[in-house]
Amino acid sequence: MAKTQVYLIGAGPGDPELITKKACRILAMVDVVLYDYLVHPNIILMATHAKKICVGKKKGAHSTKQPEINEMLVKHAKEGQVVARLKGGDPMVFGRCGEEMVALSEAGIFYEIIPGITSAISAPTYAGIPITHRRCSHSVAFVTATRANDIETMVFPNADTLVMMMSLLRLKSIISRLKNLRPVDTPVAIIESGTYAAEKVVVGTLESIEALQETHQLKPPALIIVGAVVALRDQCIWRQHLPLRHRRFVIFRPVHQQSALADKLSLWGAEVLTLSLNHIVHDPFSLDAINLDELTWLIFTSDNGVRAFISGLLAMKKDMRECTNARILAIGTQTEKALNAHGITPDIRTQSATGEGIVATLEPMLNSNDHVLIPTSSEADDTLLELSRTGAKISKVVAYTNHVPDEMADMLHWIDKNDTFVFMNAASVKRLHSQYPFLSSHQAVSIGPKTTAQLHDCGVPDVLEALEMSIDGVIDAILNAAL
Ligand code: SAH
Repeated sequence: MAKTQVYLIGAGPGDPELITKKACRILAMVDVVLYDYLVHPNIILMATHAKKICVGKKKGAHSTKQPEINEMLVKHAKEGQVVARLKGGDPMVFGRCGEEMVALSEAGIFYEIIPGITSAISAPTYAGIPITHRRCSHSVAFVTATRANDIETMVFPNADTLVMMMSLLRLKSIISRLKNLRPVDTPVAIIESGTYAAEKVVVGTLESIEALQETHQLKPPALIIVGAVVALRDQCIWRQHLPLRHRRFVIFRPVHQQSALADKLSLWGAEVLTLSLNHIVHDPFSLDAINLDELTWLIFTSDNGVRAFISGLLAMKKDMRECTNARILAIGTQTEKALNAHGITPDIRTQSATGEGIVATLEPMLNSNDHVLIPTSSEADDTLLELSRTGAKISKVVAYTNHVPDEMADMLHWIDKNDTFVFMNAASVKRLHSQYPFLSSHQAVSIGPKTTAQLHDCGVPDVLEALEMSIDGVIDAILNAAL
């Protein structure tokens, strides 16, 4: 029996949700990812366990040459690793997939191809251009014209709609050829960064498009669409009602933990970049010194604290039944949800994320017979220790530690100067500030006063703060400000 060693995967055009289920499943299990520069970072980060290697153009560096990429694919596969080759759009549409297929076949390596959504179709779709509208387009051709010499001699397909890829830098020569082939009032569109928040569209004709490009200076990756369908954009534009369609938000937590916030932002048309600034490591021994049946209170300050506590119990081959005498307090909705996921309903839930608020809530309920356990992170502050003035025994254990993830440098490189940052806690503000020198030049949204104060401390002047300390509160604040 032979196993697949290499997956050639289409990563879609840009919008990180335009990816197949099959690609998601495979990315979660591969050991190595070789990715192109057109792949959205969230898709690269889906390969949670993999070593991630960029073989596309990075700022200031050249892309890896094709023969070298072929060699890398073969080398990693021969070392026994499962490899994902992530390519923008669909791998078979001007993706040099054929060359990689030949190289892998020659090396006797088994591979699979996972098609993706090509930019050639989806970028015009997002831009409101129906490339095969029945009234005026019975055929579409995908064309590339990368070299000036080719353009002078190449045969342009006689299709109703032309979708030209990798061609923007040759616009002048292309237009001058096309003017000889089609009426000068033929509609033309240029779409930059289609399906991304940064999408830009310029519409003109063969006559006017060069001057328009001179003014607007669109940049690759871009498509040039030629044909009558372009004129239908006025009637077919469909993303205008989405208030966040040109906004990109960065949220700072692992992809799996932040889906509710990311989903809601996406629902309003935003692009979301989810970066995890911490690699969380649970301490399996954190509960060893604790007499669990003596506990009268358990305070959970975060969902990570819940997960780390449960994994500490499991490491001792125990479970929640050991804490028979403990009542449970959860701070914040995410913490409560994490408890619910483990079959636990907290006795007290509070939205107040401030330590002072918790102290005020619990203080009247505690006395010297109480033993309170607070499983928390290595970075938590000591406010809750003030509860010891009630005479109760307070045990704060470091149930998990935060580490800088291996991909930190790549992640910071992916941030764009126009990105709006959304912070759901003060710790991630601190953490980003220690790694990223340009925090103060970004727009920032904060879940509440503590986070806002931390942003001010880090030199961020204007902070949009949620009225209610929850995901919906954050979304409301963003939408109100966008209107
Ligand atoms: N396999 C890819 C295309 C690779 S060739 C696909 O199926 O989409 C690279 C070219 O694709 C770019 O030069 C540009 O012409 C086009 N392209 C890729 N992503 C794009 C995007 N988001 N918006 C506009 N054009 C894009």
